[in-house]
Amino acid sequence: MTNNSVLGSAFFISLNIVIVGCGLGGLTAAYKLGMAGHTVTVLERATALGEVGAGIQITPNVSRLLHRWGVLNRVGNVGIRPLGLTFLRYQNGERVGYTPLGDHMDRNHGAPYYHIHRADLLDILYDLARPYATIRLDARVVSVDPSAPTLTLHSGEVITADLIIGADGLNSMIREVVMGGPFPAVPTGDAAYRAVIPVAELENDPELKTLVETPQMTAWIGPGRHIVMYKIRPKHVNLVMCHPDRGAIESWTAQGDIDTMRHEFREFEPRVQKILSLVPLALEWRLMDRDPIPHWIHPDGKVALLGDACHPMLPYRAQGAAMAIEDAAVLGVLFSRVSDPAQIGCLLSAYETIRIRRATNTHMASRLNQKTFHYEDGPEQQARDASMREAMLRDSA
Ligand code: FAD
Repeated sequence: MTNNSVLGSAFFISLNIVIVGCGLGGLTAAYKLGMAGHTVTVLERATALGEVGAGIQITPNVSRLLHRWGVLNRVGNVGIRPLGLTFLRYQNGERVGYTPLGDHMDRNHGAPYYHIHRADLLDILYDLARPYATIRLDARVVSVDPSAPTLTLHSGEVITADLIIGADGLNSMIREVVMGGPFPAVPTGDAAYRAVIPVAELENDPELKTLVETPQMTAWIGPGRHIVMYKIRPKHVNLVMCHPDRGAIESWTAQGDIDTMRHEFREFEPRVQKILSLVPLALEWRLMDRDPIPHWIHPDGKVALLGDACHPMLPYRAQGAAMAIEDAAVLGVLFSRVSDPAQIGCLLSAYETIRIRRATNTHMASRLNQKTFHYEDGPEQQARDASMREAMLRDSA
């Protein structure tokens, strides 16, 4: 660490912070901690950066931060601002619910809602972080000594740090260090196909055109499965098709079988059948979850977790990356005035206290949506749809 700056009579120090993982959470943490004056290194095992998958929803809790960091205009330039989310009954496309987004989000939540390609968001966060951090690719961390603390890379290189942030995702090895042993992810019972199709293909069909002529998100909800469709770029539509897991593998890059995919959704309305016939290939992966962990910091107080490493959640509230970005924002604020390395432990505990309940509540709410989205035909589903219809009427009154 080095003495960094003087403000009035207080000396601030620059800590040597190593972040493991260059995903959406790690990059945001690199930006915030680097901006706070620390020396930040990001270690990423991949040899090139790139987000697989496709769409990501940027809810107002995140767009507010992106605005504060001066990059929301970039999101607006490449992303889509949806007017609303329409819930349709799976069998006949009957409209059972509508959540206004568009201006409603600005009015009621103080910031807009966007859809964006994950790679576009990654680029924006990378550009934010790059001036403030050294980003090392092909740098897989194979072990950590939490007391020193030090990290060892697959090359054998040993790196020392004042503070280590584990932003290494669902299968985090830093979490094992923090928890003192393995804490395996559990299958949720669901898997998801993911595909991107050109908007033009939908526009060629008068029945499908209405689904994309205004920026809207559409969700068909049915027993045990649902489909969400929204534009992520002006010319591309993202489809996420969640269904019961029948042995999908836990990978972001595995190809699913297209015929099996179409069969999974065979009871969905005719427009869905047409849309699925336009999908040439789809990724498929098993959706994993973990019970919330009780602490995010190693007892020695120099290693902490962030993002999916400590709270992987089902994507059913579109909040996984949002929570990772919020974690990073809080860390950045807390570490913006460090005058003594002895403060690291207290600041990390404040971080955990501020974040753990919110992330856990969001995690649990995502699990609840798995249940409510997927009710079998019957009384629970009818009650859900009745309350959505009521809310729709209330909102439009
Ligand atoms: P990751 O993005 O997983 O990044 C971890 C990084 O660490 C990776 O780059 C990995 O290579 C690296 N790494 C791992 N181990 C090591 C090691 N040993 N050494 C060095 N590097 C290592 N969230 C939203 O907010 N909105 C959405 O709309 C949304 N939609 C989703 C849809 C689906 C279908 C899914 C599955 C998820 C969705 N999410 C969404 C959740 C979101 O994608 C994740 O929560 C988010 O990407 C987590 O970011 P992260 O930085 O914590 O982890």
